[in-house]
Amino acid sequence: IQPTSIPLQSSTDNSFIKKLKSSGRSLVVFYGSQTGTGEEFAGRLAKEGLRFGMKGMVADPEECDMEELVNLKQIPKSLAVFCMATYGEGDPTDNAMEFYEWLQNGDADLNGLNYAIFGLGNKTYEHYNAVAKYIDKRLEELGATRVYEMGLGDDDANIEDDFITWKDGFWPAVCEFFGIESTGEDVSMRQYKLEEFKDDVPDRVFTGEMARLHSLKTQRPPYDAKNPFLAKVSINRELHKGSSDRSCMHIEFDIEGSKMRYEAGDHVAVYPINNPNTSKRLHPFPCPCTYRTALSHYVDITMNPRTHVLKELSEYASDPAEKEKLKLMASTTPEGKALYQQWVITDNRNIVHILEDMPSCKPDLDHLCELLPRLQPRYYSISSSPKLYPNTVHITAVLVEYTTPTKRLNKGVATTWLKEKKPIAEGECPTVPIFIRKSQFRLPQKAQTPIIMVGPGTGLAPFRGFIQERSVSKKDGHTMGDTIMYFGCRKKDEDYIYEEELSKYVNDGVITLYTAFSRDQAQKVYVHHLMEQNADEIHKIIVEENGHLYICGDARHMANDVRNTMIKILQKSMDKQQATAYLKKMETQKRLSADVWS
Ligand code: FAD
Ligand code: NAP
Repeated sequence: IQPTSIPLQSSTDNSFIKKLKSSGRSLVVFYGSQTGTGEEFAGRLAKEGLRFGMKGMVADPEECDMEELVNLKQIPKSLAVFCMATYGEGDPTDNAMEFYEWLQNGDADLNGLNYAIFGLGNKTYEHYNAVAKYIDKRLEELGATRVYEMGLGDDDANIEDDFITWKDGFWPAVCEFFGIESTGEDVSMRQYKLEEFKDDVPDRVFTGEMARLHSLKTQRPPYDAKNPFLAKVSINRELHKGSSDRSCMHIEFDIEGSKMRYEAGDHVAVYPINNPNTSKRLHPFPCPCTYRTALSHYVDITMNPRTHVLKELSEYASDPAEKEKLKLMASTTPEGKALYQQWVITDNRNIVHILEDMPSCKPDLDHLCELLPRLQPRYYSISSSPKLYPNTVHITAVLVEYTTPTKRLNKGVATTWLKEKKPIAEGECPTVPIFIRKSQFRLPQKAQTPIIMVGPGTGLAPFRGFIQERSVSKKDGHTMGDTIMYFGCRKKDEDYIYEEELSKYVNDGVITLYTAFSRDQAQKVYVHHLMEQNADEIHKIIVEENGHLYICGDARHMANDVRNTMIKILQKSMDKQQATAYLKKMETQKRLSADVWS
C-alpha cells in the first residue's frame, strides 16, 4: 500500500505557512501527542475540514517553526486548531515541549490568529488537562481569537464521546465565524491506495522501520523514537513464584555499543509487534507481505475503534441491520452514544471482534489500514541503575491478559510479545527496538537527603534503580540519608518480586523496607495503611528533614490514596488546607515526584 498524492501529513520543511499556501489550505491542526490519540484526533479534524470547504493539514509542532503563527493571518479565513495532550504531572508531550516553552516565555503578537483547542487528559491524574487550559488562556492573552470554546477530553471516561460532542459544536461555530455556507456533506478522502507490485518485491518496501528505510538493518546512532535501537534481550526471567496465576518479567536489554545513556528513573520505550494470531484473522482475503508488515508493525488492531472507523465500516456491511447498527454507533445521538459505549467500550471489542460479530462487513484492507491508528511504543520505568549496569537497561513488566465481557481472551500486545523474547543460548539473543526517554523522576542530588519511596507491584521498578544507585553511594563511603521503601503485593509467596535483592539491601543497611501483603489475611493491607502507622517517622523525614517522597505505579487508586494519606500525616503539625498546600509546594520543589500510569 502506498500513500496517495494527497499529503495530509506535513513533510520535512518546517515552514507550515509555506506548505499551507502552496497547497491552497487554510486549516492547520497541530497536535501534542504522546500515545497517538492527539495525533489521531488532529488527523480527523484536518480531514473533515474539506466537508466545510476548508482544506486541512496536520502538523507536528516539533517539526514546525511555530513562530510563524504570527503570520497565519496572511492566509484568508485561516484557522489553527490544537489537539493537545497533558502528560505526567501537567506537562506537555515531548513533541509540544518547545512550543509550550515558546508560549510561556515569549510575547509574540498573535492578533489576527484564529484558533480553537481540544485538550486530551485524564481525570485520574491531578493536573487534568493543564496543558490545553494553559495554551487556551495564553493564546488569548497574546491577542489570538478563540473561534470556539475549548473542549476537554477525559481518557479515564470516554474521550471519543468528549471529542465528537465537541466537534458537533465546533464545526457549526467555524462555519458561522467564517461565513461558510456548507452542508457539511460527507466527502470521502483516502490517504492510501493499493498498488500491487507484479514483479519481485522492490528493495524500497518498509518492513517495520519507524522512519528511515532499512534503519533496523543498518543501525546508526543517535537512537530515538524514529530511529530505535535494536537491543538484544540478554535476560528474560519470571519474577512471580509459587502458584501465582500471573506473570511478571524481569528483562535486560543490552545497549552496549549503542551510545545510549540512561539514568535511574528514566523510561525505556519498546516497539512491539502485533500477535500474528490476531492479525491473521483480520485478512478477509490472501495478503501480500506488505499487508503483513502494516498489520504487524504499523496499525493498532487491539484497541477499541473510534466512532469514525465504525462510520466508514458501515459502508462495507451488506446486511442492512449491521449497517444501521454501525451507523447508529457512529452518530452523536444519545441512543448512538449509549450503544457505542456499551457494545464497543464496555464489551471491549476491538476491530477483529467487530468484524467477527458483523460477518457481512468486509472492508477493503487498504482502507482499514488507513483508518486504524498507529501502533504505539510502550513505555517502561527502567528498573536498573547505570552505576551498576552501564551496558544494560532492565525493565519489570507484568503480563497483561484478561477476559472481555464477550468471553474473549485479550492479550497485551507488548507484554505478550516480550514474553517470547528469550535468549536461546549464550550469544543467541532475540532483539527488540527500543529508545530511552529522559524523565524528571530523579533521586535528590545529595545522598544525605532522606527519601521515602512508595511503589506497590510493578511500581517497584524505578526504585530498584534508585536503591542500586544508593547502594553504590554507600559502598563509596558517602553519608547516606534514610532510604525507605514501601512495597506491596498480593501474596508474599507469589508476587513479592525481587524479594532476595530487597532482603539483601535491608541486611546491608542500604534500605528500610515496609511490606504490605494485601491478600495474605482477611483484611486488605496496603502501602498507605503502613504509612499511616508510621506517621511520626514520615512526618519527621518530610517536614523536619526536608526529605523527598516518590510514588510509582497505579495512577487510578494507589497514587491518590498515598497523597491523601500524606495530607493526613502532615496534619500532625498543620491544618488540612496547609497540608494540601505543603504537598503542592513539595511538587514544585521537586521533593514530591510521581511516576504513575493507568
Ligand atoms: P495493551 O495491548 O496495550 O493492553 C493494555 C490495555 O488493555 C490497557 O490500557 C487497558 O485498556 C486494557 N486492560 C488491561 N488489563 C485489563 C483488564 N484487566 N480488564 C480490562 N481491560 C484491561 N508497565 C509495567 O508492567 N512496568 C512498568 O515499569 C511500567 N512503566 C510504565 C511507565 C510509564 C511512564 C507508562 C506510561 C506506562 C508504564 N507501564 C509499565 C505500562 C506499559 O507501558 C504498558 O501499558 C503495559 O505493559 C501493557 O502493554 P501491552 O501492550 O502488553 O498491553
Ligand atoms: P498489582 O499486583 O495489581 O497490585 C500491587 C498491590 O497493590 C496489590 O497488593 C494490590 O492489592 C495493591 N493495591 C490495590 N489497590 C491499592 C490502593 N488503592 N492503594 C495501595 N495499594 C493498592 O500491581 P501491578 O500488576 O504491578 O500493576 C500496578 C498497576 O499498574 C495496576 O493497578 C494496573 O492498573 C497498572 N497496570 C496497567 C497496565 C496496562 O495495561 N496499562 C499494565 C500493568 C499494570 P489488591 O490487588 O489485593 O487489592
